[in-house]
Amino acid sequence: MTILADDGPRLLRGGPIATALREQVAQDVVVFREERGYTPALAVVVVGRDAPSAVYLHKILDGCRLVGIEDRLVELPAESSADELGAAIRGLGDDPQVAGIITQMPLPPGIPLRTVIDNLDPLRDIDGIHPVNAGLLSLGYEGFLPATAHASVEILLRSGIELAGRHAVVIGRSNVVGKPTALLLLREDATVTVAHSRTRDLAAITRTADIVVIAVGKPGFLTADMLKPGAVVVDVGINVVDGKLTGDVDFASAARVASAITPVPGGVGPLTNAILLRHLMEAARGLASGRMPPGTRSLAATTPEVR
Ligand code: NAP
Repeated sequence: MTILADDGPRLLRGGPIATALREQVAQDVVVFREERGYTPALAVVVVGRDAPSAVYLHKILDGCRLVGIEDRLVELPAESSADELGAAIRGLGDDPQVAGIITQMPLPPGIPLRTVIDNLDPLRDIDGIHPVNAGLLSLGYEGFLPATAHASVEILLRSGIELAGRHAVVIGRSNVVGKPTALLLLREDATVTVAHSRTRDLAAITRTADIVVIAVGKPGFLTADMLKPGAVVVDVGINVVDGKLTGDVDFASAARVASAITPVPGGVGPLTNAILLRHLMEAARGLASGRMPPGTRSLAATTPEVR
């Protein structure tokens, strides 16, 4: 039996939070320029004009312009080698004005992920893909977080959703979304279960969840019968069905049971882009002051001695 929520769920919209974040970033850029005499830049590296993520990356660059951050697009020919991509990323890391570097994913076939990781300065890794930043997150230290995972948890925190002690189920275990989201929820003292394609009887697990975060890339996957009445749902999925953006949640059915839910579009997506810009300013301040951002400080200063 499906229990209907009285007035429908609360919509957790990312747009207003993103607007507030962007306004803060725009002010930070002005202060930074006054203090340092230059404008920080975000560089986006794309291999081949028809890269699948090119549209998303251009959106990030548009977002830079709106807040006064300088945007750099580095377009390499589709047939570029791993060495050429590596050299481009290294070159950007040598430019003091470039505070953040994002490379298109997935990479073209034939270019291994190591090419990016081996050449990316962790101090400029504003989307948290470098193992240094991933390691800091998993150990519970501050570092650059993957922006989508950060947005998925930030939308809950800024909406006043209690996380401590509650059962959160994350569906999806990718390095960019599922895994870091689970670690961030753990950091917020939630009790976290991570589910994936080999999980047995997923619905039985999600029905015990106070909070479900889904990032699987399957439209309409999460339905009302998989939810406990009153659950909070974060839909990270971005799918295109009949030319329309849709999430991983069957919104019409889930909305009858959930107490709060992020819409797609308009939920996690807009917040992700704004958070990237905030990470960029954190990187810029860290690089300019010669002080490493908190995430990249030597662990020796903060870690108890291991015997
Ligand atoms: P991904 O790397 O393909 O990972 C998908 C995950 O879903 C995997 O861990 C997979 O399990 C799991 N999965 C697949 N089928 C499943 C099933 N039947 N039951 C349970 N788990 C299942 O995808 P991703 O990069 O994490 O992205 C996920 C979604 O988020 C996509 O729709 C993507 O477009 C979207 N996304 C949104 C943003 C944003 O800003 N909102 C940013 C990035 C991505 P296995 O590990 O076992 O294969």
